[in-house]
Amino acid sequence: MKRLKENFQKPHILIVGAGIIGKFNAIELSQLGYQITIADPVLDKNSSSAALGLLMGNMYQKRNGRSWILRKQSIELWPKWIKLLKQFNTELHIEKPLIELTSNDAKFEKLKKFVKENTNQGLEILEKESFVIKNINKTFKTKHLKGIISHKDGRIDPRSLLDTLNIYLKNKKITFLKDEIIKIKRLHKQWISTSRKNNEIKTDAIILCNSLNALNLIDLKTHKVQLKRVLGQAIEICIDEKEVDFLSLPKHFNINGKNILTLSKNKIVIGSTDEYHDKPEDNVFEKLTDFLEKKPLWLSKDKITRKWFGIRSRPDGEPSPIQKNLEDGLILCTGFYKNGFLLAPTCSNWVASELKKYFL
Ligand SMILES: Cc1cc2nc3c(=O)[nH]c(=O)nc-3n(C[C@H](O)[C@H](O)[C@H](O)COP(=O)(O)OP(=O)(O)OC[C@H]3O[C@@H](n4cnc5c(N)ncnc54)[C@H](O)[C@@H]3O)c2cc1C
Repeated sequence: MKRLKENFQKPHILIVGAGIIGKFNAIELSQLGYQITIADPVLDKNSSSAALGLLMGNMYQKRNGRSWILRKQSIELWPKWIKLLKQFNTELHIEKPLIELTSNDAKFEKLKKFVKENTNQGLEILEKESFVIKNINKTFKTKHLKGIISHKDGRIDPRSLLDTLNIYLKNKKITFLKDEIIKIKRLHKQWISTSRKNNEIKTDAIILCNSLNALNLIDLKTHKVQLKRVLGQAIEICIDEKEVDFLSLPKHFNINGKNILTLSKNKIVIGSTDEYHDKPEDNVFEKLTDFLEKKPLWLSKDKITRKWFGIRSRPDGEPSPIQKNLEDGLILCTGFYKNGFLLAPTCSNWVASELKKYFL
């Protein structure tokens, strides 16, 4: 068996999975002085590379419970991350604001109530008469859309973020192992991980950020964890209608639960729904165009120029995400079927605090 170089001076941590969650953990832990190895057999073919990058924090309409606490912490941590990552990409930023629209009157009343109950939080009601709404209604050939705007939420370009994280990891000389971890076992105070290519990695702790495959590495009789597969999908629409100009739309917004990105004068992206199958069902991409009672002619399946999906994992029987200290030196941080981009900062912050306690 090949042995990876060992360094006994600082605790050595193996991070399994290099999606957004694994990468954030690698950076946060390396900043604390831990020696990091991050393992993943694929580069950029995961759910993180399929994401649209919307950060819906303040727009979340439940202002209590774990989910809100995680969002709130992440909203606070994001500016620090942007500042840190700007060292390697000065262009990186969160493009604000974010708009949520509905054609349903009852839903709009709920949104209005939410904004009125949460003053001074960068939220505003968008009535039919507003300039933004008029433009959106004109493009979607309807009169019924209205909603709210959140000046503190927005979008980070996922490709740009993931590339910047890769540059950071390389620059900090974090070991990247292009390999799949197939077995982990505890031996005295250390963990021994075996990879598909027969590498053996000895570390002081392991952080599992490998989504569904985390279940293959842990003893499910001892640790009661269940994850379900959830597909998320997106389409690109390209039109040649002269009278429609997508640049009159906001850069990103949500209509009746569908997220929309404006790419150019004639291109938009629409994503995503949740589907509990391994592969997209028939017409699942086409269904992404069905979010209005009466849709404009340009919003049709013939205009789809690109489609893609990503497989995410959702905890079964407990809320998302899973943050668990499974046993000494083994942490599970996965199950981000939604909002992995938004929540990455708070999750790596939690892992760091757990490890600090462990290595005291
Ligand atoms: C179409 C779509 C749109 C989305 N839009 C948004 C959005 O707008 N905003 C948002 O916040 N979230 C969005 N999401 C959700 C977001 O993508 C996920 O929450 C996030 O990417 C989860 O990140 P992750 O690191 O947990 O998982 P992944 O990105 O899936 O990474 C897991 C990694 O683990 C690796 N791995 C698996 N097994 C092993 C092993 N045995 N050894 C080593 N490595 C292993 C895999 O190769 C993979 O790279 C969207 C998702 C999809 C599909």
